[in-house]
Amino acid sequence: MDIVNPATEEVVATVPDTTREEVDAAVARAVKAQTAWAALPPGDRARHLRRFADAVDAHLEELAALEVREAGHPIGNARWEAGNARDLLEYAAAGIERLSGSQIPVAGGLDVTFHEPLGVVAVIAPWNFPMPIAAWGFAPALAAGNAVLLKPAETTPLTALRLAGLGLEAGLPEGLFQVLPGAGPVAGDALVGHRDVAKVVFTGSTAVGKQIMAKCAADVKRVTLELGGKSPNIVFADADVERAAAAAPGSFLDNTGQDCCARSRILVQRSVYDRFMELLEPAVKSFVVGDPTDPATQMGPLISAAHRERVRSYVPESAPAAIRGEVPAGKGFWYPATVLEGGPRDRAAVEEVFGPVAVVIPFEDEAEAVRIANATDYGLSGSVWTRDVSRALRVSRAVAAGNLSVNSHSSVRYWTPFGGFKQSGLGRELGPGALSAFTETKNVFIAIDPVEESK
Ligand code: NAD
Repeated sequence: MDIVNPATEEVVATVPDTTREEVDAAVARAVKAQTAWAALPPGDRARHLRRFADAVDAHLEELAALEVREAGHPIGNARWEAGNARDLLEYAAAGIERLSGSQIPVAGGLDVTFHEPLGVVAVIAPWNFPMPIAAWGFAPALAAGNAVLLKPAETTPLTALRLAGLGLEAGLPEGLFQVLPGAGPVAGDALVGHRDVAKVVFTGSTAVGKQIMAKCAADVKRVTLELGGKSPNIVFADADVERAAAAAPGSFLDNTGQDCCARSRILVQRSVYDRFMELLEPAVKSFVVGDPTDPATQMGPLISAAHRERVRSYVPESAPAAIRGEVPAGKGFWYPATVLEGGPRDRAAVEEVFGPVAVVIPFEDEAEAVRIANATDYGLSGSVWTRDVSRALRVSRAVAAGNLSVNSHSSVRYWTPFGGFKQSGLGRELGPGALSAFTETKNVFIAIDPVEESK
C-alpha cells in the first residue's frame, strides 16, 4: 500500500498489505504471548508499560513528524497526539496494581471477584486520529493482561507500526502487541471473524461498525464501537456570545473537521443570530490554514482526494456559503473552512460531513434547541453556551449524547469516560473503567467448613 502525504501528494512510504493467512499466524503468536503476559506479576506488567511510555516520550518528535507526513496534521496537533499515546500508556500502567475485585458478604464462605483478561483483543482504528485512538484500545487492553492486534486504517499505518516497534525496543514480549496494516475487508474482516479474537474495539464509520457488530454476534464476541457523530454547538442568547463565536471555529475546523466530535451543527438563538454570525466570520477567516510542518498552522489538508470529493458534495453549488475561508494553491487535498446557513433537515445538517463544514441553524427557545439537537441518529458530543447554570444543566441532561461540555468544546480526556449514545457507539472507553472493559468478571465462592465439622 502506498502511503501518501495529503499536503504534498507525494508517496512517503510503501507498506505491506496483511493477508488472511498472515492474520491467522499473528493471532497464533498473540495467543502464546498473552498466556505468559497474563501470568506476570502485576508490578512487572506495569513496569513494562511504563518503559513503553518512556520510549514513546523519547521519540515524540519522530512520531509527530510521521503523523504530519501520513495524515497531514499540523505539527502542533501531531505532538499532542504522540503525547496522548504516552499518557494513555502511563495511565493504563498505573491501573494494573489497582485492578482489584470485590469481596461480597455471603453465608457459609468467602465470595470474591477477579478481573480476568479476555485473551486476544483486535483494535481496528480509523485514519483521523491514528495514534490516540489506537492507544485508547491497546494501552488499557495490554494493561489488563491481553495481547493486542492493531489494524490501522489503510491510509495511516506508519505511526502504528512505529509504536509497535517502540514497544518491542522497550522490552514488550514478542507477539504481544502486533500491528497488521491492510485492507479493512481483508485483514480487518479476518480479525473480526477469528475464533481466537475475544474482543473487537472498532472506531470508524457507523456503516462499518454495524457490519462488525453483526459479525461479532456469530461468536458472541465482545465489541466496543466508537462511530460517527453530528454534534450540536448550542449558543443561547444569555451566553458570552463573543467567547462562543471565538471558540466555534476550533470546534469544527480542528483536524480539518475530521473529528467524530466536531460541532458541525451550530444552533444559535434567534435574538443573537446576526451578532453571532458577524463575530464568527473573522474568527473563521483567521483560522490559520497551511503547511502542516509550520508550528503556526491550525488546519491542514483533508486525508485524500476521494474524501475531498465527498466533503465537496455537501456544499450545494446553488446556495453560496455564508462564510468561506482560504486554502493554499497547488498540490494537497485542501478544502476551505465553510459555514452554511440552513435548516435542520438539510443534508449537510443531518449527515456526518467529516470535513471543515458547519451549518448554522437558528432556534427560538430552549425546547426547540433540544429538539433540533436530538433530531439525529447520532449522539456523541455537544456543547452548550449559556451563563445560566440551571439551563446549562437542564440542556446537558436533555441532549442525548455521551460527552457534553458547557462554555467549552472539550470532550476527550484520557481519564474521563468517552463514548456515544444511539448510533454513535456502544460501550465506553477511557476513564476509570478503561481496564475493566478488557476483562471478564469472575465470581469465586469458597466454602468455609463449619467449626462442628472440623472437630
Ligand atoms: P471506516 O469505517 O471506513 O474504517 C475504520 C477502520 O475499519 C479502518 O481501519 C478500516 O480499514 C476498517 N474496516 C473497513 N471495513 C472493514 C470491515 N469490513 N471489517 C473490518 N474492518 C474494516 O472509517 P474511517 O473513514 O477510517 O474513519 C472515519 C469514521 O470514524 C467517521 O465516521 C468518524 O466519525 C469515526 N470516528 C469515530 C470516533 C469515536 O470515537 N466515536 C473517533 C474517530 C473517528
